[in-house]
Amino acid sequence: ATSTPTLEIRPSDHAASAEERARKMTNPGFGRMFTDHMVVIPYKEGEGWGRGELKAYGPLAMDPASSVLHYGQAIFEGFKAYAQKDGGVATFRPEANARRFQASARRLAMPELPEALFLEAAYALIRQDRAWIPGAIGESLYLRPLMIATEAALGVRPSNEYLFLLIASPSGAYFAQGVKPVTVWISEDYVRAAPGGTGFAKCAGNYAASLVAQRQAKGEGCDQVVWLDAIHRKYIEEMGGMNIFFVYQEKGETVVVTPELTGSLLPGVTRDSLLQLAKDQGFRAEERKISTDEWEAALKEGRMTEAFACGTAAVITPIGRVKSRKGDWLVNGGETGPVAAKLRQVLLDLQHGAAPDPHGWMHRV
Ligand code: PMP
Repeated sequence: ATSTPTLEIRPSDHAASAEERARKMTNPGFGRMFTDHMVVIPYKEGEGWGRGELKAYGPLAMDPASSVLHYGQAIFEGFKAYAQKDGGVATFRPEANARRFQASARRLAMPELPEALFLEAAYALIRQDRAWIPGAIGESLYLRPLMIATEAALGVRPSNEYLFLLIASPSGAYFAQGVKPVTVWISEDYVRAAPGGTGFAKCAGNYAASLVAQRQAKGEGCDQVVWLDAIHRKYIEEMGGMNIFFVYQEKGETVVVTPELTGSLLPGVTRDSLLQLAKDQGFRAEERKISTDEWEAALKEGRMTEAFACGTAAVITPIGRVKSRKGDWLVNGGETGPVAAKLRQVLLDLQHGAAPDPHGWMHRV
């Protein structure tokens, strides 16, 4: 085995054959196929981060008393490596994910992984599993870092031992129907996150708590849940795993609006990037509160022309229809609008190295 100062590289002795890999990379969907390797870095209170390893992807052996299984100290991230037009590979703003991972760790009383170690792990895995990166625009290698509490102890307190893991998955389109607009369900029965809670953190519990609402949305014939704020139950926060944008036409100007960061919604990297890219396109960009009443009224009055969701996994997904207990509205006739389509193209071109990178967001691997 060769080694770098912090990660020991131990290539798998049972990596997939070229045929098997090709089969798994054909219409991979999202998060179903995994590459040959993973990174594992242990942490012990008092000793800090230990020697990490890049090794064959495979199951973990865990003590059933591991505190993550009981009290849920678990956080994760998601970002992508993209095949570049010139044949290279690059990641998009991975340092933003490293820092959000640290913010999530702080909220869950977990140790912070140094940004340099997060990036080193990512680059090592991307290089090792380079052959798993699909080439087409819209396809990518999805990287999933996570951290779990592994101390075998049933006391309710922060664990003294943790495991950082990094796995990778070749990914195609996130929603089965591609960029077709989705129908969303405004959740009035369930709340995702409250002030002082964990909404801004990417912790497993937020997603566990959202599943029953997602199931309800499906039962109502919808694809995704839209979450409202916990106090007034009227301001839009975000979607299941995506942030949300609204497009207004005001006096000949295109204005893109996204809910402000309240502490109870996830500060998406795509959200932040689109605020900038919208300005680059000559649109006005605003972060503010938007109520469901405003959404409905602005659509009726024709002031709002589009709504879309955004996130790493699905990039930009137009919202074609909105349903709630109170009503059912169409957005842009249920079709993809020009602003969503334009921003999606601009972002994809940037991520695949088909356009200049004025903000220095792409990191060559
Ligand atoms: N909101 C939630 C709840 C999410 O899980 C995600 C995905 N990380 C997002 C928004 C979008 O964030 P990003 O653009 O960083 O992927």
